[in-house]
Amino acid sequence: MTDSGLQDVPAVSRPHVEPGKLFIDGQWCEAHAKGRRDVIDPSTGKVVTTVAEADAADVDAAVTAGRRAFGPWARMSGRERARVLHRVADIVRRREDELVAVESLDVGKPVSLCRAVDVATTAEIYEYYSGLAQTLQGATRQIPIPSHAYTSREPLGVVGAITPFNFPLILSSAKIAPALAAGNAVVHKPAEDTPLSALLMAEILAEAGVPGGVLNVVTGGAQAGEALLRHPGIDKIAFTGSTEIGRHAAATAGEALKPVTMELGGNAAQIVFEDADLDKAIGSVIKGFVFNTGQFCMGGPRLLVHRSLYDTVLEILAGAVAGVPVGDPFDPATVVGPMAAERHLTKVERYVRLARDQGGRVVTGGERLELGGGYYYRPTIIAGLDDDSRVVQDEIFGPVLTVQPFDTEDEAVELANGTPYGLAAGLQTTDLARAHRVAARLEAGIVWVNDWAMLDPAIPFGGVKQSGYGREYGPEALESYTKVKSVVIAL
Ligand code: NAD
Repeated sequence: MTDSGLQDVPAVSRPHVEPGKLFIDGQWCEAHAKGRRDVIDPSTGKVVTTVAEADAADVDAAVTAGRRAFGPWARMSGRERARVLHRVADIVRRREDELVAVESLDVGKPVSLCRAVDVATTAEIYEYYSGLAQTLQGATRQIPIPSHAYTSREPLGVVGAITPFNFPLILSSAKIAPALAAGNAVVHKPAEDTPLSALLMAEILAEAGVPGGVLNVVTGGAQAGEALLRHPGIDKIAFTGSTEIGRHAAATAGEALKPVTMELGGNAAQIVFEDADLDKAIGSVIKGFVFNTGQFCMGGPRLLVHRSLYDTVLEILAGAVAGVPVGDPFDPATVVGPMAAERHLTKVERYVRLARDQGGRVVTGGERLELGGGYYYRPTIIAGLDDDSRVVQDEIFGPVLTVQPFDTEDEAVELANGTPYGLAAGLQTTDLARAHRVAARLEAGIVWVNDWAMLDPAIPFGGVKQSGYGREYGPEALESYTKVKSVVIAL
């Protein structure tokens, strides 16, 4: 066993993936216009399969199927829906190897992390909402007029779920599981770059007993997404993706007064105070920016370090980050895989070039890793940039960490809050009072103290400012897929 323990993880090999179809009304079908899109393995740059490319007519068929299936599914008891969702969790665990292989191939995720995080969390999400499916309830209210007054929670109808490329399994499950638990039907449009696990999940949900039409999957790009946003048969849009597309999606849904959940971009700060436990802090900082090759909305690509520790932290980080294993996602020892698509790699290259032009010092990394034609970039640390540099302000979405010193707690908070985003934030301190004090002042949907990316289906997450609104996970997400009805009966 290595220190990381990763060699103990069961190996999986690159799968052969059959061409994908759309999943509508419980049936596999071609796109009506016969469009197809290549799916690329980011670790080789080669086409591994193709999937159907849906357009507005396919989306219409999926929404129509959803509307038909919605009534009977909504009328089932929460307990019956809970049983079905629990079976999904069981099947995900049984078919873990398949899911790991497909998700790793499609996104370039290291198999060890994909198993421990993406697939394990997917099962947990279904398990968690299976439990909550039985807890939906209204309330009775006592009012001055002689009456029996009560509220009930009803499902919304058909939900349009649009997901990004970076965590396909987790982010689609975070929408589909609570939506189904509450009694809705769903039309899911996965990201065009990473659609494969959505098709496998459609198969798994059908195997678990989700009736035809309750979950429909339409693979495709902006055209299919746009059709979903605009379809009058859609009752809610649950969107995760960039702030730019999210803004457009919210505006479009807003015209039709459709409720939305907007999980958008992030650019979190990790603050290391002078009283931090440095060993733990370094591990957390590295996890915060290399996890998922930095393609992590809740990543922490901005490190703020107390000036007294600045040189020490930079030196330790440089050595540790240079030793992080980057390589083939199917090698169990790999910690950082390729970026999911070539355009993400060229974006990172552009930002590192800009950093150099602005006088930034590349402490480690700063270049591609030439390996098998894949989209690899070495984990990179950049010091010496001003706070208003675009490299600090923008969401780069790659394995790049900028490092800035601060002198006071106030300055740390100001720097941390100093971007348009507000998804996550974190701090390292051994002072309990400071932990609470600073957590309260950070503008973020979630704050982590002394570790990074502590996530669980029971803990709500979501953004403030330009990172969006609405929450996924927790009972909050379940409620967001319901509407409240009040009934007042005169006595
Ligand atoms: P993206 O915005 O490019 O795409 C997201 C989805 O929107 C994809 O399915 C895409 O096909 C679809 N889309 C594109 N144009 C559309 C249109 N006109 N109408 C409807 N749908 C359309 O995002 P991405 O590059 O896939 O993902 C990365 C972004 O997602 C980052 O900004 C990241 O921070 C964010 N993200 C946020 C969270 C969160 O929980 N807040 C989680 C993961 C990723």
